[in-house]
Amino acid sequence: MPDAARSVTQAAVESFARSYLESFGASIDARTDRWHVKLPTDHPLSTDDRTFTIGLGNQLGENESDARLTPESKLFHELVDTAMAAQPLGSATLTRETAPVDLPTWLVSDPDTTEYTFYPLYDREALCFLFRVSVETVSEYQTEFLRAVAIDLQTGDPNPEIATGLLDHLETVVDTDETGPRPPELNDEQVEQALDTAQQAVEAEVRPELEELQQKASEAAAEEIAQYQQLQQQELQNIHERLQQIDDELSKASHEIEAASSQGERVEALSRRQELTDEQVVLEDERDRIQTELNTGFPDKRSDILDRHAVRVSISPVAVTAVTYERGELELIDSAASGSISKTIAFAPGIGPLERVSCDRCEQPITDTNPVHQIGNQFVGDCCVGGPDSTDS
Ligand SMILES: [Zn+2]
Repeated sequence: MPDAARSVTQAAVESFARSYLESFGASIDARTDRWHVKLPTDHPLSTDDRTFTIGLGNQLGENESDARLTPESKLFHELVDTAMAAQPLGSATLTRETAPVDLPTWLVSDPDTTEYTFYPLYDREALCFLFRVSVETVSEYQTEFLRAVAIDLQTGDPNPEIATGLLDHLETVVDTDETGPRPPELNDEQVEQALDTAQQAVEAEVRPELEELQQKASEAAAEEIAQYQQLQQQELQNIHERLQQIDDELSKASHEIEAASSQGERVEALSRRQELTDEQVVLEDERDRIQTELNTGFPDKRSDILDRHAVRVSISPVAVTAVTYERGELELIDSAASGSISKTIAFAPGIGPLERVSCDRCEQPITDTNPVHQIGNQFVGDCCVGGPDSTDS
């Protein structure tokens, strides 16, 4: 199930932050790239300031110290945590009243000749889970991001379009009115199963990225281990050289003791020999210690380095939204000069097509990379458009 987990976009982040801040009475003076926020006396946030500025996105403006609002930012994660602590189970309704019946552009061959009508059939339920993925390597990299996975309760499978629909229309579809529609009755087993499937979808999606990080981290660790080994070998070499020197100096000192012409000279030579012998003992111990370390592959140091480069990952659900969506049929009519043709597809407002739309000729899926065209009495994708007319491939 590729792409089952949807990233939370900058637009969704801003939309969420705005509705959440406004839900407890904060006022927002919005400028192009920043918000000036004023909090009411009574608010759930941890900040002591009643007014502050939030910079939107990663584009740093003149005031770089402003809190940033991005999918990865600390501020955003704090807002999510505070909101979810207050209300971990939200509900949302995607219907014609709350979300537009918009055709994706790849399903419109020509805006002038395309018409469509939506026929609602029945309401369906889904659960949309929001997961926080935290990745941490102590030495190099640290990030947190959110992924949304929606599970259609009818099929038990992930439906990325529902997650996208919810994220795209947060401001209009989330039920904030307590007298509004209640979330559907869900049994624990159903929720647990959906959560399990969603968790697997997130894990599958972030796995390649994590494997890449792990690869980089273990390369960095291997490099550090090699450097450490080199340093130890160099140290051993230095000790060898010094011991050699001490040997020479010791025989020189012995010589001087024998040849001393006065008691003073003899005492001085004896004391130098003692100093050299002491140093020799210390260095020989050190040499043996390093040699043993090198022979055994310095297990303590190695595990210390590996531990420091280990990639720590946690994937945890932070919120769940019960989504009610309106499943229906969409009749698509294209009246080009060559004649009028129609197609009926399963559809939901705010979500889009609920099933694969295929090319009439070759059955390949019609997607944003394989957009639709009307050719004669058929809807075909780029896949089956040939010749001089195929300009928009
Ligand atoms: Zn085709």
